[in-house]
Amino acid sequence: MSDTPSLIIAIDGTLASGKGTLARGIAEDCGLPHLDTGLIYRAVGKACLDGGIDPDNAIAAAELATGLDLNLLDPSVLRTAEVGQYASRVAIHPPVRKALFELQRDFAFQPGGAVLDGRDIGTVVCPEAHVKFWVDADIKARAERRTAELLAKGEHMTVETMLAQLQERDERDRNRAVAPMKPAEDAHLLDTTHLSIDAAREKARHIVDQVRARLASR
Ligand code: C5P
Repeated sequence: MSDTPSLIIAIDGTLASGKGTLARGIAEDCGLPHLDTGLIYRAVGKACLDGGIDPDNAIAAAELATGLDLNLLDPSVLRTAEVGQYASRVAIHPPVRKALFELQRDFAFQPGGAVLDGRDIGTVVCPEAHVKFWVDADIKARAERRTAELLAKGEHMTVETMLAQLQERDERDRNRAVAPMKPAEDAHLLDTTHLSIDAAREKARHIVDQVRARLASR
């Protein structure tokens, strides 16, 4: 592990809450590298799908998670609804999460720091992050957003089907025994139901600036 990082930012939240876009924006504003940790769970899910491996088989899924290369994550093949479902199934297994833990910590603790977004960054992966955000929105707004996103990529799904999928995913992510999706106690809440991503980014930047100033004055 490297020296103490200057700034680690943890962004957790629900699917289609805008956390990914926000995380990329914050990383750009701060000049920090960004890791979308959902992609690594998706990569394991996709490997199950491609290899005909049962995603409910913890040992087989953990084997696929071991040695995963962060440089080989391709969002264009990983961000499909089907891969998302597989990702949330492999994500419940403690051996899978264990195999991916150090990978995420190493990314977070690189010199200068990093921005990571996911479900358990502020609570489990990086409880010592300097700034934490929890991003959420009303489930209907999230379903409409995600349906439009998929449509833009040529994947058709009704809002009702998406709503049902989100409910299923949220429930599995919130209720799993290990590292359930939840806000860290010291996270700043950003509700994007009626807040544009630009406005949320502005709000977040203000908070990050305050933390940076405090760290600099130490
Ligand atoms: O955010 P995204 O939809 O890409 O994440 C896919 C799935 O990966 C989530 O539904 C969740 O089950 C899992 N995940 C996780 N912990 C993270 C990031 C994602 O369990 N830090």
